[in-house]
Amino acid sequence: MIISNRMKNLHPYVPGEQPKDRVYIKLNANENPYAPSPAVQKAVLNFVQQHPEKMGLYPDPDATQLHKAIAKMLNETGGVLCRAKVQGNKVSPAEEDKIPFEVTENMIYTGNGSDEVLSFVFYAFFDSSKKFVMPEFTYSFYPVYAGFYNIPMDNVPLKSDWSLDTDEMLKRAENNKGGIIFANPNAPTGLGLTRDEVRQMLKKASPDEIFIVDEAYVDFGGESCIPLLKEFNNLVIVRTFSKSLCGAGQRLGYIVASEELVNIVTTVKNSVNHFPIDAVSQVSGVAACEDIGYYVECSKKVAEERDDFYNFLKSQGFYVLESKTNFLFAKKEGMAGNDIYKKIKEKGILIRHFNTPGIEDFVRITIGTHQQMEELKKAFLDL
Ligand SMILES: *Cc1c(COP(=O)(O)O)cnc(C)c1O
Repeated sequence: MIISNRMKNLHPYVPGEQPKDRVYIKLNANENPYAPSPAVQKAVLNFVQQHPEKMGLYPDPDATQLHKAIAKMLNETGGVLCRAKVQGNKVSPAEEDKIPFEVTENMIYTGNGSDEVLSFVFYAFFDSSKKFVMPEFTYSFYPVYAGFYNIPMDNVPLKSDWSLDTDEMLKRAENNKGGIIFANPNAPTGLGLTRDEVRQMLKKASPDEIFIVDEAYVDFGGESCIPLLKEFNNLVIVRTFSKSLCGAGQRLGYIVASEELVNIVTTVKNSVNHFPIDAVSQVSGVAACEDIGYYVECSKKVAEERDDFYNFLKSQGFYVLESKTNFLFAKKEGMAGNDIYKKIKEKGILIRHFNTPGIEDFVRITIGTHQQMEELKKAFLDL
């Protein structure tokens, strides 16, 4: 056989449609409807025009400036953009989001999107000899990596209100003598645990096993677990520029963790791809962090539109989960999720539907601009 045995374990991730045939309003991949800040656009143009020679050289493998900029941005915002305060050029965290220590550059690792970061985190901390725990419905890339690295998983069903069954997750992790991963807020439900609920989990979990929290959506209203890093050395927090930093096209993800765990993931990176972040993305990432007030405003707008659309769906008789993210997960009695998706698509708007048994009644709706959401309301009124 030409093909390795390993290939049998591959079940690739299927992303939201990226249509090439017609222009749709795209509310299906949880991208941000706003463009990166003007400061980012300017920084990239200047870099390419003034330093074309750098396009021909390898970028900084350690993304030093970017790590510094991310650490500073987290200290300034508390790691939850939609609650941060902006006064002129000064950004400060909401009282409840203040991080009780200084996040430093050696606590940051960056990669080519948090998907790549997650891949290296799986490689570094999960083992093929023991199961890791994750919720039954969560980010669907986790099972893909489990297959890729041949790591057995233990899926824990959600509770009847779609929240995480934290007691059962802890029990299974103890039995498995293995680690835990979940997204907080979770996807595709949009529900979040409070920091204190995660703290209670960490207190009960084994300090010798990894505990991974994926905070891809936390900026839209969740509670970040960064403050817990002081108490728990087994905690790894994964975050991304793709959602709240309007940067899905530039592929930038990162972790915040102890220096020791950051170094371990860096060892994986240096064994696969020494330069996961190209020179232009390093420049644009730094510029984004330095103009974080712009993204604070974008996150606030998205959160407002989300709450407005939540009320709209409720008024239309939908069952809607209380989202702390930039999307809503909703269903309506007597309507198949796939039919809703198709009818909305006919109106030129893409939303997401999953065929996965258990959640096939739902649609997942990414929050767009005010105008896009008004268009979407019209489409829903026509269902
Ligand atoms: C979108 C998403 C990611 C991946 O983000 P990239 O940085 O674009 O690779 C990771 N985790 C969750 C839960 C997500 O929704």
